[in-house]
Amino acid sequence: MTKVFLTGASGFIGAHILNDLLNHGHTVVVAVRSATRGQQILNRHDRDAANKRVSFVVVEDFVKQGAFNHVLQTNAPFDAVIHTASPYFYNPYDPENEILRPAVQGTIGILRSVTEYAPTVKRLVITSSFAAMINFNRHPATYSESVWNPMTYEDALRPSVTYPASKKLAEEAAWDFMEKEKPHFSLTTFCPPLVFGPVIHHLESLRDINTSNTRIRDFIQGKYKDAIPPSNLYLWVDVRDLAHAHIRALTATGAENERFFVTAGHYDNKQIVDIIREEYPHLSEVFPPKDLSGDLPKDVYQYDNSKSVNVLGLTYRTLRESVRDTVASLLKIKE
Ligand code: NDP
Repeated sequence: MTKVFLTGASGFIGAHILNDLLNHGHTVVVAVRSATRGQQILNRHDRDAANKRVSFVVVEDFVKQGAFNHVLQTNAPFDAVIHTASPYFYNPYDPENEILRPAVQGTIGILRSVTEYAPTVKRLVITSSFAAMINFNRHPATYSESVWNPMTYEDALRPSVTYPASKKLAEEAAWDFMEKEKPHFSLTTFCPPLVFGPVIHHLESLRDINTSNTRIRDFIQGKYKDAIPPSNLYLWVDVRDLAHAHIRALTATGAENERFFVTAGHYDNKQIVDIIREEYPHLSEVFPPKDLSGDLPKDVYQYDNSKSVNVLGLTYRTLRESVRDTVASLLKIKE
């Protein structure tokens, strides 16, 4: 049992990481941007004993220099840190302030604070992204941990690519920090592609759905009755498997100072619609016609997720299970 400092717990993935941490008996302090968010997280756990092992601290601005210094000291001692918080949306109005600075400075800030003010931390885990790998202009034959997207800070200022560039720049900055500062803890990064799975974090309505589950919401709300939209990305992972990977990274031998590509495999939007049609026949009238074809290219890039299987012991859920459970969770949330 360890004490973990976690960011991003108010979001889609972070909520699952928090659940998994509590289920494994860990004590967790979550850093949130407002007390409202913190209270929403506590409310989610108020019916079980786990609520005694989760508390929150408010860090209003993750970008501010030394933002984490005080909370790391006053809640010490921590054994591990998981940094998941980062803006995930496309086409910002102000790329630097809305996405780049929180992603990059937020990451460096937490690394620096842990280095200076949390001497008991042994492992630090960061949720990076397949976005830090993917090269839309020239895909490699196979994506694996050795692949990085070539985007620069200049590129990142173009709103259409700010998000993927922010993930690359943030992860790169983290590894550079480790190289230069040689701190007392190890780093593990995760590069998940599109993440599907049940929504368990607080949502006022489906209008506020997280970015990666948007397409599933749109399908069940009948936004695509005539056509299947382009899939854009052809790799996916279930949020519960991704959360489990983060927990494994706290203890698994061989996870220290490693980057992991965590994916369950290929998919396209047609497969998603077909699964929803079969699992939820009563929703069928809002779906695109059955005979439309999918867009998974025959020569689609391949993936190598063997490191996640061999080192972390991951097994991956099927697309059917993930989509079915995602829809079940969305149907419980008001439109
Ligand atoms: P969500 O939007 O559901 O959650 C984002 C989390 O980050 C929330 O806790 C949010 O806090 C926090 N956050 C957002 N902007 C800021 C900011 N400026 N300063 C501090 N905290 C901020 O997204 P996901 O859960 O899907 O994403 C979590 C992480 O996983 C991100 O790092 C993302 O890049 C990465 N990822 C996600 C994938 C996916 O398909 N979902 C794929 C690959 C990587 P608040 O509630 O206060 O807004």
